[in-house]
Amino acid sequence: MNNFESNFTDSGVIQRHLTETGAVTPAQRKCQLGLWDEKKYKETGWPRSGIANILRDPTYTGCRVYRKRKKALYQGIVNRTCPRDEWKILPDMHEAIISQELFDTVQELMDRNKKERDEALAKTQKERDSFDNIFSGMVYCADCGRPMRFIWVPKHGKKKNYPHFVCSGYINQKKRTCESRHQVRYSELHDLVAAVLSMQIKLAGFAEKKLKSKAAAAVGKEFDERIKALSEQTEQNAGKRTRLYEGYAEGLLDADEYQYAKKVYDEEAEKLRDELESVKAERDKQVRLCSSDNAWLSAAREYKERKEPDGKMVRSLVEKVLVHEDGQLEIVLRFEEERQVISQIISEDGEHHAGR
Ligand SMILES: [Zn+2]
Repeated sequence: MNNFESNFTDSGVIQRHLTETGAVTPAQRKCQLGLWDEKKYKETGWPRSGIANILRDPTYTGCRVYRKRKKALYQGIVNRTCPRDEWKILPDMHEAIISQELFDTVQELMDRNKKERDEALAKTQKERDSFDNIFSGMVYCADCGRPMRFIWVPKHGKKKNYPHFVCSGYINQKKRTCESRHQVRYSELHDLVAAVLSMQIKLAGFAEKKLKSKAAAAVGKEFDERIKALSEQTEQNAGKRTRLYEGYAEGLLDADEYQYAKKVYDEEAEKLRDELESVKAERDKQVRLCSSDNAWLSAAREYKERKEPDGKMVRSLVEKVLVHEDGQLEIVLRFEEERQVISQIISEDGEHHAGR
């Protein structure tokens, strides 16, 4: 019975089977018969709710069902499905496709499944209502790029529901962008992010201690040497241009020779100016990144004492999380540049010590 149950009463299993075997959907059939606009409905897949409706429809046992839907435009109700106990069912009106016995068994199983589902949902109602998804808006499918949807699903063999993330590009059957669920447990993602952030905060604390013993000015030292060299070259260039003009004025050079040499010196002067500017800008940036004003260090400092991550902490340190098909999680951290500069300084520092 178990096998029967899972195969014939689970609209999800039936839906997959019908889709995989390429069965003509109700929408496609209506298009074939010319009842529906082909352009609009041709691609419509097998809807889960539609399959459940078919399983519950006594018409297939040879009945005729009246008053299933109500149209009451004056009440603002356009086309509404009536409660089942209001339906008028006339038996033996046409040939049955399925037996009454099978139909009754299916109803029984579906009722039982629904009851179990409702009970499981009721059990976790409070928990679900108060649950704080700290990754809200941050989890994406690594394959189709769509956001992962936060949903509650029962764990295999258990009646309790647990929070999960599932690719919204898979769930959306009308505009499906993904071929698999990419399902991942919320707790798994939570534990991994908590571990990564705790490591990041430790690393930032270590880096900050290191930086304290190394003044920001010292960081700019190698740049200062380059700036000094470039400034000297600029002075030399200016001297050359002055002497060139003097030579021309004294008649040692003719106009063509002067113009040619001047052009060469001018170009050199321009190149030096550009280089000097960019080295100065780079030095300022490095000094800023290496100081305790470094945005990563500042952000990490704020959460030094925190044991468990919350939404604010996650948003301030994590850019996004990507879920791969094999269940691998990729955590993209914020402050990439700031982290790189700091780790470079620390490793360079280590090398200096090792070299001594
Ligand atoms: Zn996807």
